[in-house]
Amino acid sequence: MFVGPELDRLIALLAKLPGLGPRSARRAALALIQKREALLQPLAAALEAAAAAIRPCSVCGNLDSTDPCGTCADDRRDRSVICVVESVGDLWALERAGAHRGLYHVLGGTLSAIGGRGPEDLTIQQLLRRVAGGGVSEVILALGATVDGQATAHLVADRLRPLGVAVTRLAHGVPVGGELGYLDDGTLAAALKARRPA
Ligand code: ZN
Repeated sequence: MFVGPELDRLIALLAKLPGLGPRSARRAALALIQKREALLQPLAAALEAAAAAIRPCSVCGNLDSTDPCGTCADDRRDRSVICVVESVGDLWALERAGAHRGLYHVLGGTLSAIGGRGPEDLTIQQLLRRVAGGGVSEVILALGATVDGQATAHLVADRLRPLGVAVTRLAHGVPVGGELGYLDDGTLAAALKARRPA
């Protein structure tokens, strides 16, 4: 490029963000430079503050500027139910949905034969220690309905079984208004398997 090494570097870094390719990164960089006081300088300060303050929670793996995180420290939450998620993004999605009032545990991924991720790469041991510490009556496995997500759910359920805690998983949904004939087999089979008393 012809813009100087600083701007080149900014564009290259922006292009690594999810959802931004090189083209959008150039547009974003230009917008930042043109709005130096309104955008560029506050963003630089916000990035610096976030980099200095945000850490993974040592209990659940959520990201926050306090440890334990705000969710773990919130005594209005039901501490007897832990919802296991793959990523912090999934935790945030469940929080936005407001569907879970218990605690969380972030696994840090799923098992992946292709990605070379085994059980030791996830925070399964930390989860087992939390449950073994007592006071937990149910663990909800809120993992994706992918092959890797389901393999991970099986493994975590197996490891939890000796601890005598109830293990549940999401009913992989028949979408509201969805007709059964239009569902793929995997979804339908999973929905049937996760059936509840009517
Ligand atoms: Zn936490």
